[in-house]
Parts: sequence; structure tokens; C-alpha cells
Amino acid sequence: MDDMSDRQTPKPMFIGGQWTLAQDGDAIPVVSPADGRVFASVSRGKAHEVDQAVKAAQRALEGAWGRLDGVERGRVMLRIAEKVLQNAEELAQLEARDTGKPISTARNDLAVLARYFEFYGGAADKVHGQVVPFQNGYTVTVLREPHGVTAHIIPWNYPAQMLGRTLAPSLAMGNATVLKPAEDTSLSALKFAELATEAGLPEGALNIVTGLGEEAGAALASHPGINFLTFTGSNEVGTLVQQAAARNAVKCVLELGGKSPQIVFADADLDRALPIIVRAIIQNAGQTCTAGSRLLVERKIYDDFVGRVATRFRDVRVGTPEMDLDCGPVMNPAQLQRVTRYVENAKAQGIVLLAEGQIAPGVPEGGYYVRPALFGPVPRANALAQEEVFGPVLAALPFEDEADAIALANGTDYGLLAAVWTESGGRQQRVSKAVRCGQVFINCYGAGGGVELPFGGVKRSGHGREKGFLALEEMSSTKTLVQFHG
Ligand code: NAD
Repeated sequence: MDDMSDRQTPKPMFIGGQWTLAQDGDAIPVVSPADGRVFASVSRGKAHEVDQAVKAAQRALEGAWGRLDGVERGRVMLRIAEKVLQNAEELAQLEARDTGKPISTARNDLAVLARYFEFYGGAADKVHGQVVPFQNGYTVTVLREPHGVTAHIIPWNYPAQMLGRTLAPSLAMGNATVLKPAEDTSLSALKFAELATEAGLPEGALNIVTGLGEEAGAALASHPGINFLTFTGSNEVGTLVQQAAARNAVKCVLELGGKSPQIVFADADLDRALPIIVRAIIQNAGQTCTAGSRLLVERKIYDDFVGRVATRFRDVRVGTPEMDLDCGPVMNPAQLQRVTRYVENAKAQGIVLLAEGQIAPGVPEGGYYVRPALFGPVPRANALAQEEVFGPVLAALPFEDEADAIALANGTDYGLLAAVWTESGGRQQRVSKAVRCGQVFINCYGAGGGVELPFGGVKRSGHGREKGFLALEEMSSTKTLVQFHG
């Protein structure tokens, strides 16, 4: 049930351990993608609140947080993971309502959030420096130190997972953080801050400024007090934040879009591949940077295999979070328009719509529901084969042989993930090495999964790495000590 007071009083931000409304009282309505109705509001922080948050983070580095060693930081983080697990159902319900995703997907997202804090909590005291052999009479040690204040700007597609992915390695290395969640989806981050406080995270180690991208986001990216920035989102905004960070010589990690290919050879285990390939584009209504949005199939099995994918697509069901079907609505009206535009343009260009999924009867009016769509064969230069739709739209394309498959796979501006489906061990290696991207899955696919696995893009998919131990390197810098002792 909607609670009027909940809708009228904006949720405060979390700055320097205090719950704070925007100085000017401004708020942003929170809309449910499932029915298009406002059910809450969050504070609309701006440059002033960002400045407060950065200063609070700087103070935390000088204070209780900065004094903790790796063992203690790890313990706090493990307690946070425990808190998330204890409150997982409440968090998942909140996340499902905020994003429209099926409740079981939201439950999984929360399990992944806890896992980030377990993984990096366990790693906090295990990042070693180095001793470098140098001239006689010297000892050289290389220390790993935190950057200082790290800024984190995240998108709305996996709010809780993104929060874990970006904050956990930073906190493990001893940075103090300022997070700007997406304006559509700030609720799980605010609840998380409450739990982190209960778990004993010292004040100022985590600050959350909710607000619009062009206000709070832009102010954070350009703030001279930040020492490092991670951004996950669109290419357009990624370019802006990188420019802003560059003005202060601040290093940044950018996780941007993708157009990831599923490369299916005739000798593949097609029964295994089929459900995984469909899921890789349907998951989260296709709003996954790592969605497998291009289906590249060897020509001799193209008609047969794509026909099987089409049959499965027709069974895909879209519904509310509570219906818990294959996927939910897309995030907002802009997303709905975007996906619809791609589908309508493709149809108008005469590209064959091979199959569509179904919207379940009984979904509320006003929700942002789209029918998942499979098109093929899509011409190689067409927008559907080149651009990120960020919706449940799969483009099928035939290829002739291994060399053609590689050329096709590499034939977009993006380079995030790829999957290679073949039983030939040699081909698995050759194709994996030839495809330009950050992760290759062989006879499997893990859109978004695996906190242990270094992740990130090449080309226009971004730069820098998150997840795994590499994220700890990104979230720290080295200091070389050269000691003369004779
Ligand atoms: P977006 O770029 O519009 O927004 C992302 C974040 O940036 C939000 O928090 C937003 O408020 C903020 N922002 C917007 N304008 C800003 C500005 N001028 N300055 C600073 N911050 C600003 O992206 P989106 O629509 O939320 O997400 C969709 C995109 O994100 C897709 O392209 C998708 O592929 C990408 N994405 C990538 C990954 C990855 O890991 N590679 C993961 C998820 C999403």
C-alpha cells in the first residue's frame, strides 16, 4: 500500500554519518516502473551537498576510518555483508519495487551485494606491496595506498549490485567514498547506508548524495576534492565525467555500454547454448551492459538454430515483480520510447521480426512493458547490429567461417563481453584470443555475474577493471620507498 507521508517527505541523504535533506528541500519523485505511479521521493542533492559529502569523506580519512588497519576494515565489511544477508528480503522487495525487476532477480542482486562485501572484506588484509631488487646498499619497497576520496556514479539497472561492485573494493583499500546513485533508483543505497552504520562503518567512510546526474553527478565528477572516480553508465555521460575528472587530473574507471556477441558454431552443444543465449538478452529486460544482444550463428545451422531461439522467445513472459516471470518492465518512459523506437525502425526497414515474447495478462496500466523481440537476419551495418538498445531485443546474424565470425564479432565500437560456443578446443582458444573485449565465456555466459572475475571493457565499452583482485589495484596507488643503508 502507498503511504502518503512516504511519498511527500523525501528520504534524506547520508552525509558524514548524518541523515540530511537537501539544503533547499528539493526532492525527486520515485516512480514504480511496474505501474508508473509515484510511491516515494528522495532528496535532490546538488553541488552544496556533494561538497559536504566530499569534506566528510576527507575528515573520515583523518579520523576513525583512516586509523583502521586492513584486518579491522575487513571485519567491518564482513559485518556489513552479514547485515545485508539478514535484511535481504526487505532489501530485495525495495529493489524490485524501485526497478520493476522480478523479485527473484532482485533477491539474487542482494545476494551478490553481500558477496561483494564478503569477497573484498576477506581481501582487505591481503593486498601486499613488493620488494624490488635494486643496487647494492639500497632496499626498495613498493607500498599500496588508498587514493583518498573515491567518487562513485552508478546507473539504475542493478543498483544494489553496482553499489557493491564499486564501493566494496574501495573501502577494502581504505578509501573514503561518495556515492551518487541513479536518480531513478536510490532506495536500496539509502537502506544499505543504514545497515552499514549498524555494522559499525565509521562516519564519513560512506556518503550518499542522491540527485540528478546533471546536478549532483556533475558536481561530484568535477569536485577538486576527489582523488579517484568510477563511473558506470552511458557513453555520452562517461565522456562528460572523464572530461570533468581530467581537469583535476583525477584518474577514472569507466564501465560503459556493450553489444556483446554470442558466437555459435555448427559443432556447438546447441541444447546447452539455447536457454543460456535467450536468458542473456532477456535478463533484466535487456537492461544489462553485458546483455548478449548479438546472436552470430554459422550459416549452415543458422535457420535451424535461430528457429529454435524464436520458439523459445515466444514463451518469454513479461510481468510485475510479484508475478516473477522472465523479466519485468523497462525502467522509465525514456527507456520505453528508446526500445520501441529501435523495434519500430527495424520493422520499417523490413528486417524480419522472427518472434516476440508476451506481456502477461493483468499487468497494471501505466507500467513500462515491452515485448521482447528477436530480429534476423539483421544487416551488419544496421543500427540493431551496431548500437546498444539496452532492452530485450536480440539481433541474429549469420557468419560464414571462423575468420568471418571474428570479423563480425569485432565489427562494432564496443568490446565488453563475448561468448564462444563450439566443441573444438583449438577454436575456443583462437576465437577467444581474437575477439577484442574484456571477458570471453566459452560454452557458458555470465552477464553481470562473478564478483571474482576481473571485468571491464575495451574500445567504447570503457577502461579500467572492476571485480576480482584487479579492482583492489584500481582502487589504490603505489608508493615506492628507496632506502639507502650502505
Ligand atoms: P547514464 O549515463 O544516463 O547515467 C548513469 C549515472 O550517471 C546516473 O547516476 C546518472 O545520474 C549519472 N549522470 C547523468 N548525467 C550526468 C552528468 N552530466 N554528470 C555526472 N553524472 C551524470 O546511464 P543510464 O541510462 O543510467 O544507464 C544505461 C547505460 O549504462 C547503458 O549504456 C549501459 O550499457 C551502461 N551500463 C554499463 C555497465 C558496465 O558495467 N559496463 C553496467 C550497467 C550499465
